[in-house]
Amino acid sequence: MTEKVIKNRDSAAEWKELPGADPDIRSMYLPELKRLMEELGEKPFRAKQLFEWLHEKRVESYDEMTSLSGALREKLKERYPLHTLEVVNMQESRIDGTRKYLFALHDGNVIESVWMKYKHGNSVCISSQAGCRMGCRFCASTLDGLVRSLQASEMLEQIYRIQQLTGERVSNVVVMGSGEPLDNYNNILRFVYLASMQNGLGISQRNLTVSTCGIVPRIYDLADEELAITLAISLHAPDDEKRREMMPIANRYTIEELLDACRYYFDKTGRRLTFEYALAADANDAEADAERLGRLLKGLNCHVNLIPINPVKERKYGRSAKKVVLNFQNKLEKCGINVTIRREMGSDIDGACGQLRKSYLDKSGE
Ligand code: SAH
Repeated sequence: MTEKVIKNRDSAAEWKELPGADPDIRSMYLPELKRLMEELGEKPFRAKQLFEWLHEKRVESYDEMTSLSGALREKLKERYPLHTLEVVNMQESRIDGTRKYLFALHDGNVIESVWMKYKHGNSVCISSQAGCRMGCRFCASTLDGLVRSLQASEMLEQIYRIQQLTGERVSNVVVMGSGEPLDNYNNILRFVYLASMQNGLGISQRNLTVSTCGIVPRIYDLADEELAITLAISLHAPDDEKRREMMPIANRYTIEELLDACRYYFDKTGRRLTFEYALAADANDAEADAERLGRLLKGLNCHVNLIPINPVKERKYGRSAKKVVLNFQNKLEKCGINVTIRREMGSDIDGACGQLRKSYLDKSGE
């Protein structure tokens, strides 16, 4: 991935083709749709019409694409079946209206997405894979391993469906559901471009956050794309030894290597980084950990998001006490670090990322 894909940041106006295995029609870039139209003996402008049916009007069947000829619709139907997500389960929080959706993909795999209402707009947290193979020891998504990566269309569909079901526009997207987005790199790029297209969802890249456990070479690749998205890094520990206990990826890359990649990301994109730090009792929440973290991040243009860990029954990690969390925040602030404690949304419905899916899989496998 050496070619620069986007020239005008945030406009997504100019793109080149990217490698990526056999995308379905809703995951295709406009130039790819143009080529497909040519192949089918159609005029190139049909590609734009098709794109708008798929991403602006978001129809669910070719029959609704009335500006395309019947013959073309038949050909497309045969070659590129259109899939939509089915709602398997939905839980709504009585406290804040947060909704957690469990969706079935066309092959029967299930994924979860979360819809959150904030004063400044609605936010959706999407999954990038069914399952995950990163193995973080506090996380529910990875317990049954990776089933498969999602296509870009399957990530978009989570937002399309939620907008349709709630009747409200989504203005913010975080890729923080199940899966490791940088383990699904090409599809994530497609997703970012498609979601930010003006004649698609038109979500500003500034309102798109991709969260990674820290696959260092892919962070460099992403930096070279010079996108305007926010990169969130799941750091979770102030030193390699502690990080290795919590996250197997830390055996591959040291914190120093990770932070070098983060600096490069900032230099290339000018985007401030977010570091996520899940506080687990007696694992990474000591005052000394906060001080170490403060020293580590000093001088880096970043923001730290403290997440009180959500205990997962199969895992040993427990939640830090409230005063420990506040004290940790305080210590970091004294080091001059910008810190927030993640506001918990939907705390009365199935907790952490991957838990809804996990409880569904457990029940259906009984
Ligand atoms: N794979 C990506 C994105 C998915 S997880 C990543 O690692 O960043 C989104 C965030 O939730 C990550 O910071 C992850 O470490 C955190 N997380 C996972 N399980 C959690 C739990 N039980 N409690 C609190 N945070 C958790």
